[in-house]
Amino acid sequence: MGPTDRAVFTCADCGASAPSFGIDYDRLGYPVCPACEAVESPLGGPGARVRP
Ligand SMILES: [Zn+2]
Repeated sequence: MGPTDRAVFTCADCGASAPSFGIDYDRLGYPVCPACEAVESPLGGPGARVRP
């Protein structure tokens, strides 16, 4: 973990990266991947993504 981890979101599902300030967050505050719309939930990890 380092400063980069806080500034850049990396999707665990598709591997896409984007600035943390440039992505969307779901109603629970989890980052939403701009590429595949996977939600990075700490409760489930990769594979526990939620799709609308
Ligand atoms: Zn993704």
